[in-house]
Amino acid sequence: MDTGRIIPIQSTALEGDGMGCHAGGETLLAAAKAAGKSETLAQYALDYPRQQDAGPHDQPQSMCPAFGSLRVGLRMRRTATILSGSACCVYGLTFTSHFYGARRSVGYVPFNSETLVTGKLFEDIRDAVHAQAAEGELDAIVVINLCVPTASGVPLQLLPKEINGVRVIGIDVPGFGVPTHAEAKDVLAGAMLRYARQEIQNGPVAAPRGGRQDRPTITLLGEMFPADPVIIGQMLAPMGLAVGPSVPTREWRELYAALDCAAVAAIHPFYTASIREFEAAGRSIVGSAPVGLEGTQEWLQKIGEACNIAPDLIAKSRNDALHGLRDMLSRQSIKGRITLSGYEGSELLVARLLIECGAEVPYVGSACPATPWNALDAEWLRAKGVEVQFRASLEQDMAAVHAFKPDLAVGTTPIVQKAKQLCIPSLYFTNLISARPLMGVAGAGSLVQVVQAAIGNKARFDAMKSFFGDTGAGHAAGVWEGVPKDRPEFKAETRRQLEKLMKKRKAEEMG
Ligand code: SF4
Repeated sequence: MDTGRIIPIQSTALEGDGMGCHAGGETLLAAAKAAGKSETLAQYALDYPRQQDAGPHDQPQSMCPAFGSLRVGLRMRRTATILSGSACCVYGLTFTSHFYGARRSVGYVPFNSETLVTGKLFEDIRDAVHAQAAEGELDAIVVINLCVPTASGVPLQLLPKEINGVRVIGIDVPGFGVPTHAEAKDVLAGAMLRYARQEIQNGPVAAPRGGRQDRPTITLLGEMFPADPVIIGQMLAPMGLAVGPSVPTREWRELYAALDCAAVAAIHPFYTASIREFEAAGRSIVGSAPVGLEGTQEWLQKIGEACNIAPDLIAKSRNDALHGLRDMLSRQSIKGRITLSGYEGSELLVARLLIECGAEVPYVGSACPATPWNALDAEWLRAKGVEVQFRASLEQDMAAVHAFKPDLAVGTTPIVQKAKQLCIPSLYFTNLISARPLMGVAGAGSLVQVVQAAIGNKARFDAMKSFFGDTGAGHAAGVWEGVPKDRPEFKAETRRQLEKLMKKRKAEEMG
């Protein structure tokens, strides 16, 4: 081993693989700070604030946050993504990536106790980046430190910024610093925008593939259904504006076009680091989105003002949108009570649209935080009597389902599962609501259709419940060869063992 090349890791480094979510966020956080990551973690704490006084649930229960960054990297052309982390984390992340159709290899630099504490892991990452850069034509290589390498202080910032014209972006995305996978998208998008902004400052950069727009553009923040940018473009046209790229972008050169905009629409409100880059480039930011009648009117007004558009053109744009939407909303009506929860960041927008379509929405829970760009939506909803819960935990979302007894529960997988057990029709937010248009007339039309169809399924749930009764519920769940028998004494014994183990761990921590 060439020890002259080794960059030593702090002695506080966590030794070995196998430390993960279960190791406890506080332990990992303290280790990361001691290992030289204080600045990064302090910035994350500002950008992605946690719920105060939330007890054991100071962050929402959702998938590994790093998936957000990984997904952004995997969706970009000519971009390679390399993970540095525990094998179990990487297994889960690659599995999820391919489940969501990544169609791209995920790079991985494995480690063990020795390579982690001696700093050899960093050397291995650097070798992997060099090999990847030499391999083919790439615009960028993204390296993501997961929990253990971040907590051990693996210094990705010391990687070369560029190799053979390939940009190298190293980011830390630990579960104990970035609360949700939504915000992890921002970690990578923000890092890329920063890089691209510095390139612009240093000289000419590549034009967009289809050439520059001849009209001023509005950059959209957030991953949305492909029809939505088209619909927004139609609404902007009367003001002489065009829709620009959506961030996270699908190609490096789109980052330049995104920065080269008249204003930024923070459709998804949690892109704090990205917004910092746009503001540094002198761009103004407009929150909320053109959803429903009131939302569309307010949004077009604010966009027009941000771009110094003449009042008569703003009025024309608003009137055109109003015309189509008023007809649509008067024809379509949702009848029923709906609770809504999710981790995409667009929950408040969907709730606004549902209410304008006639639904009663008593509760909206979002895993994302309150930001200046969803403040108007939260205010609008609260004025309609809606309970808006940011950084919502599974328990809060579930309590809302129990309390409000909705005709439809829109939520995450565990909410949908529990609601179905209660015979409440339910829709999975990510796959069934996020995967359709939300903006303008198309948004209202599509949402009404899917929601009404789901509410109409109530009778099927009741029929199934009356047929199956309590079969397979509680202690009888699973596959049995004989008649299932409840064994409360086994459960009590397991609980006793667990309590003993927890006490022992606590004593060890204190001693
Ligand atoms: S990287 Fe993700 S899966 Fe692994 S320990 Fe951290 S939060 Fe958990």
